[in-house]
Amino acid sequence: MKRRQITIDGNEAAASVAYRTNEVVAIYPITPASPMGELADAWAAEGRPNVWGDVPEVVEMQSEGGAAGTVHGALQAGALTTTFTASQGLLLKIPNLYKIAGELTAFSMHVAARTLATHALSIFCDHSDVMAARQTGLALLASGSVQEVHDFAAVVQAATLASRIPFLHFFDGFRTSHEVAKIEELTDRDLLSLLDEERVREHRRRALTPDRPVLRGTAQNPDAFFQAREASNPFYLECPAVVERTFERFAGLTGRRYRLFDYHGHPAAERVLVLMGSGAETVHETVDHLLERGEKVGVLRVRLYRPFAAEAFLAALPPTVEALGVLDRTKEPGAIGEPLYLDVVAALAEARQEGGGLAADPRVVGGRYGLSSKEFDPACVQAVFSELAAERPRNHFTVGIVDDLTHTSLEIGPPLDIEPPGRVRAVFYGLGSDGTVSANKNSIKIIGEQTDNQAQGYFVYDSKKAGAVTVSHLRFGPEPIRSAYLVRGAGFVACHQFHLLEKLEMLETAAPGATFLLNAAYAADEVWDHLPREAQQAILDKQLAFWVIDAYRVARETGMGGRINTIMQACFFALAGVLPREEALARIKDAIRKTYGKRGRILVEQNFAAVDAALSNLHRVEVPATVTATFGRPPLVAAEAPDFVQRVTAVMMGGKGDLLPVSAFPPDGTWPTDTARWEKRRIAAEVPIWDPEVCIQCNQCALVCPHAAIRSKVYEADALAGAPEGFLTTDYRAPDLRGLSYTLQVAPEDCTGCRLCVEVCPAKDRTNPRHKAINMEPLPGVLERERSSYRFFLELPELDRSRLERLDAKSSQFLQPLFEYSGACAGCGETPYLKLLSQLFGDRLLIANATGCSSIFGGNLPTTPWAVDANGRGPAWSNSLFEDNAEFGLGFRLAIESQQRQAERLLQRLEKRLGADEVEALLAADQSDEAGLAAQRERVGRLKETLAGLDDPAARRLAAVADYLVTKSVWLVGGDGWAYDIGYGGLDHVLSMKRDL
Ligand code: SF4
Ligand code: SF4
Repeated sequence: MKRRQITIDGNEAAASVAYRTNEVVAIYPITPASPMGELADAWAAEGRPNVWGDVPEVVEMQSEGGAAGTVHGALQAGALTTTFTASQGLLLKIPNLYKIAGELTAFSMHVAARTLATHALSIFCDHSDVMAARQTGLALLASGSVQEVHDFAAVVQAATLASRIPFLHFFDGFRTSHEVAKIEELTDRDLLSLLDEERVREHRRRALTPDRPVLRGTAQNPDAFFQAREASNPFYLECPAVVERTFERFAGLTGRRYRLFDYHGHPAAERVLVLMGSGAETVHETVDHLLERGEKVGVLRVRLYRPFAAEAFLAALPPTVEALGVLDRTKEPGAIGEPLYLDVVAALAEARQEGGGLAADPRVVGGRYGLSSKEFDPACVQAVFSELAAERPRNHFTVGIVDDLTHTSLEIGPPLDIEPPGRVRAVFYGLGSDGTVSANKNSIKIIGEQTDNQAQGYFVYDSKKAGAVTVSHLRFGPEPIRSAYLVRGAGFVACHQFHLLEKLEMLETAAPGATFLLNAAYAADEVWDHLPREAQQAILDKQLAFWVIDAYRVARETGMGGRINTIMQACFFALAGVLPREEALARIKDAIRKTYGKRGRILVEQNFAAVDAALSNLHRVEVPATVTATFGRPPLVAAEAPDFVQRVTAVMMGGKGDLLPVSAFPPDGTWPTDTARWEKRRIAAEVPIWDPEVCIQCNQCALVCPHAAIRSKVYEADALAGAPEGFLTTDYRAPDLRGLSYTLQVAPEDCTGCRLCVEVCPAKDRTNPRHKAINMEPLPGVLERERSSYRFFLELPELDRSRLERLDAKSSQFLQPLFEYSGACAGCGETPYLKLLSQLFGDRLLIANATGCSSIFGGNLPTTPWAVDANGRGPAWSNSLFEDNAEFGLGFRLAIESQQRQAERLLQRLEKRLGADEVEALLAADQSDEAGLAAQRERVGRLKETLAGLDDPAARRLAAVADYLVTKSVWLVGGDGWAYDIGYGGLDHVLSMKRDL
């Protein structure tokens, strides 16, 4: 039977089957699994039925634990039930998973495998979450591609009903969950034929019901528990055979044949790699390449990881294998090896012990790869195969990094391009906000669904929210695409944002003779002179066909505002030649009709006009024979940046973090604060410019700025000596602080151009109400002036905090922000409050941050916005988990109070040596205002000096905790930016200021 070819991502591939084969879906969002739950929710809301004609009950719970409890309950009560999760979410479900498995419950769940937070959080992929659940009793089945995700979602549902062993089906987060690929869709009929109705009835017969009452969840004692625990053994022993039979039935239905362990390679292979997940696709592709070169290599792909069917594993391997490399996508510190490696070693050892095993008695070595989505490409695979060829291959190696600390890493050779010649490879650099990714998803759908080509799309986002760089990696071609790694050697490279050329070495990805499309505000005959030297050199070296379009002008002229996505998409189709040009344009227009049709005819027509105008504005650039640029790519950070920022942060900022060796990193996750100020992203097209004549000095603009990119200062007039030309100043006009000068200054390279400051500004020029006290102006014309003005502004002395007579919305903006230039979304409504918090209490602030938006814009590398004042004091910040924020902060508070009490007790003990008056002053200090705090800091400074001269264990102990005699402020910051103080905080200040606003 011919089935529909669809182009979807891995999450949709899983959700499509899970939704259609279940009755209850309990969800809770977690990256990268969230889209599965969101899709199920949306389908239920639109009344889409499952294969039995009923609309599943989809319920979003308050937590992962809540979702797991709901799943357990629904299963107990007889419904076919599923859920989706990843990472810590899976860990939170573990107690219920033990119960579900212990009760032999038919159930399957789908996991977009993601790194567990250890020294740092990571949303990217590895198998540490799944491996932490391998002891629960759930069967584990791994998929490696979008098609497999779709297929195995069906297989696990059938196998769990047949075996009564619950299944955890997993696939690689982002790499597979978010990869868009063309697959064959399973029909409802396929699913119904695979699911045995009698097994469904058996599941229902096991339901808790007062009509056939039973009791489960008993408490058992030493007399019973152990034996009862062993009573489930037959089900586990039978499970692999059940999966095998299900695979057989599946093959009969679809023609796609899977096995518990799938071997691919030379029938008499000497070197074989064992692994699971998407990495196996890359190894498969590399094995084909090596086979053509006469190498005796192979790959054994583990499908069913638990229960581990040792006999099937051995049977799948060629008996000739001499060296086995087992690759784990996880790290188990302190273990003798990672989990899959240990299983393989044990399987071989047990077989040998029984007189069996493999004829060649292979040497087995284990290695780690791909943690947190570290790139794993053919060159990595080649490195492992080369190591296996050594007489004594290294064990417990790593591949994909440079480990110069414990020297575990394998050396990787130059990039290995093994993709077939007919394949189109394209890379697009854009911004999160410019529609590049959605246009590319659209292009994949057009090509995947309108041609015979296979299609693959993978999208890399950087960690910033405002001005986030996106890189889209697209592949098309007649042959199956197994390349689960980033595109190199692209025949087409597009840069949708001109300024990225100055930041990224994007032409590194271009193949010789490739096409380079640039969106630039310059004509074809002038653009060359605006390219940095490195870009010109790469164009010449690689003899690129260079095309240019001013997409923003075309967008403006066709009524599209700043939306350039369809314009750039039309150019791609015109240049890449994947489809005949006219046909491509017709397909783009179909897609526009589909996407925007409901939003009105005008929008559709504007998009059509933009597509048509795109091609007439697309021009080939006559490339000169030599490099003519007078400037190169500017350094990523200023020369005066600290050593660590130069050596580590700047490398990561330039997209080259992969090159940093192990020794470059702090081993415990401790990073310096105050690094965002070195980044200077320059992402605003327009920035606010101050007009002191109109300004009423209310400071509201500074208060609302989410990025601390517009600031006010009051200072003595003589501080203006040496001010650069164009630096604006005026007299400060309020009664307090009278006599000082006042400046309002934008940070032009840190502003995101969100306009919030202009929106909130209440002051208008009476003669021209459209002219406010701050007005947006294009950045290029003011950049140099404002940059030097801002530099000078930062050097102006900060206001002595104790001079503020009252603290309110206006005066708070004279306090130095210690939260600045965050990567939060332009116009963020959360960060102004955090910035305010840092102004009020930053020099004595500890933050316990829940996981969420605020932990990303607050603690996502390479740079962090929490800053320090001139004394080196500033907020100390940490994130524990999503769900333990209050307890984490409480721990801070308890520890501080404990050390404060110790300090007080030791002070009393040392009273005679320190002086009664000084001790009394330290103990009774009034720290309720800035003057009181400053005085106490001075006392503590004196105390520490005195203590340094005392040879007394108590004095040494007091010196270690003396700083706790100065009040500390502990705040909880929620994932979505809410903040509460614990103990001495000053919440009242913040609340009163919110009222002011
Ligand atoms: Fe801040 Fe936005 Fe104004 Fe820039 S435009 S200074 S980011 S409020
Ligand atoms: Fe001046 Fe307007 Fe800013 Fe108030 S909001 S300080 S009036 S620029």
